[in-house]
Amino acid sequence: MSEDRGWHSATGRAFGGPGKYIQRAGEIARLADHLAPLGSRLFLLVDGFVLDAIGPAIRGPLEAAGLAVTVERFGGECCTEEIERIAALVKAAGAGVVVGIGGGKTADTAKTAAVANGARIAIVPTIASTDAPCSAVAVRYSREGVYQESISLPRNPDVVVVDSALIAKAPVRFLVAGIGDALSTWFEARSNLESRSNNYIRPGLPAPEAGVAIARACHEVLMRDALAAKIACERGALTPAVEAIIEANTLLSGLGFENCGVSAAHGIHDGLTVLDETHGFFHGEKVAFGVLCLLMLEGRPLAEIEATARFCRSVGLPTTLADLKLAQATPADIERVAEAALRPGSATWRVAVPLSVAIVRDAILALDAFTSGLDRAAKA
Ligand SMILES: [Zn+2]
Repeated sequence: MSEDRGWHSATGRAFGGPGKYIQRAGEIARLADHLAPLGSRLFLLVDGFVLDAIGPAIRGPLEAAGLAVTVERFGGECCTEEIERIAALVKAAGAGVVVGIGGGKTADTAKTAAVANGARIAIVPTIASTDAPCSAVAVRYSREGVYQESISLPRNPDVVVVDSALIAKAPVRFLVAGIGDALSTWFEARSNLESRSNNYIRPGLPAPEAGVAIARACHEVLMRDALAAKIACERGALTPAVEAIIEANTLLSGLGFENCGVSAAHGIHDGLTVLDETHGFFHGEKVAFGVLCLLMLEGRPLAEIEATARFCRSVGLPTTLADLKLAQATPADIERVAEAALRPGSATWRVAVPLSVAIVRDAILALDAFTSGLDRAAKA
């Protein structure tokens, strides 16, 4: 849009992404085709559930292709201890390629351990629940799952391989969480455009036109296909809508956030993790609630907030504190969330409105009041 163009042309710009992105049903059986060009000694970091279900089916074709394969079970959290453990194992194995197979935390641990060893990076998401696979950003948590920091790695994955048939058979809650994470992409890009913030590709450089176009496309695909994809995925069915949403959650959202920046939807997500009640929820579920808070914080028209909340409801994403098991949360609890959302360096600071703990706290409380009222109206 024309209003974005002025500052784009006045500054430089930077674009980054994975070397290759491959998405097709059954692609996990063709992994050797994608990994052999990267190196012959592979270190596979695999989610426990995936390892138990299809570990041999992954390993067999790789070894048949003459590749040396070390397999390790992911410990479950992308924390300092696990990153150091995996980095040491990659070194001991002498692996030139680290392959992260599983969810977002597996991907982030694999990326970080690969970079520590100068190894190539391949990511094979088995669920479409976050935009972690394509990016050079890794999110580190404490052992207990409390957000610690976002690490900017020097390289993106060399290749991302997505087996859409596998993802369509995963529990639908993962796909829905990914929709929540992808929902933040355009709204947070808009925050960064308005606050003239830089992206995550190179220090000092903002979003390129390509990044903004991708963030917009991400939003359009969600609005068009999210509900149809959710309905199909509930039956394990792979349809064009499911393929489109897998791409939106994984590629469009990944490129969109990295090239445009995140803002308060992720900042408030990070803040929510200080409340233990939220630990059972997925990243994307909390981010979806954070999107609604972001819109309230930015003073968007209630019609936009209502439409976004109704979209969230239609696919089963949380829109109220009660949906996040926070019905009993006090204003003081929400103030702790706001404090954590405003830590130095938090993405919340990328929002182009005045910010304070009280302002963020009240945006969350006001959003909850609004969406809770929508619930009552819907039931009446
Ligand atoms: Zn995210």
